Amino acid sequence: MTAIVVHHHAEPAEDRLRPITDGLRPEAPRQGGITMAEGALRGTRLGTTSYESDEHVEPAERMVVHYDCPRGHVTSVPFSVEAEEIPVLWECRCGAEALRRDFARPEPKPERPTRTHWDMLLERRTIADLEELLDERLTLLHSTQRKSA
Ligand SMILES: [Zn+2]
Repeated sequence: MTAIVVHHHAEPAEDRLRPITDGLRPEAPRQGGITMAEGALRGTRLGTTSYESDEHVEPAERMVVHYDCPRGHVTSVPFSVEAEEIPVLWECRCGAEALRRDFARPEPKPERPTRTHWDMLLERRTIADLEELLDERLTLLHSTQRKSA
């Protein structure tokens, strides 16, 4: 026997009838009419905003920061005085790193050692040692691959 269960579990009438806004429900739009109304409204708002900004808002004050390229170029970059962070380095039009005038070049990042790992390795090991190690590693690698395959 198959029972078809019909849930008479309607939402409470109050929930559906409650107005979304307090009497400010928009009028039922007609096809086409709403688009024109919105367009007109948007145009008005845009115009108002631009007038207001022209009258009341001063353009942000600017300062020009000079960057000196190691090759002698000078790049002048206008920044808003409200800019939170003005970079110390700027890429010059020639591609070199230009340094902000009167600023010290930042310390090179510690994770960029001048000696490579290879250099340091060679200080402790000879090439013969390394070849032996390489052989060991390769043998290990191959045995691991065989196991996992
Ligand atoms: Zn340059």
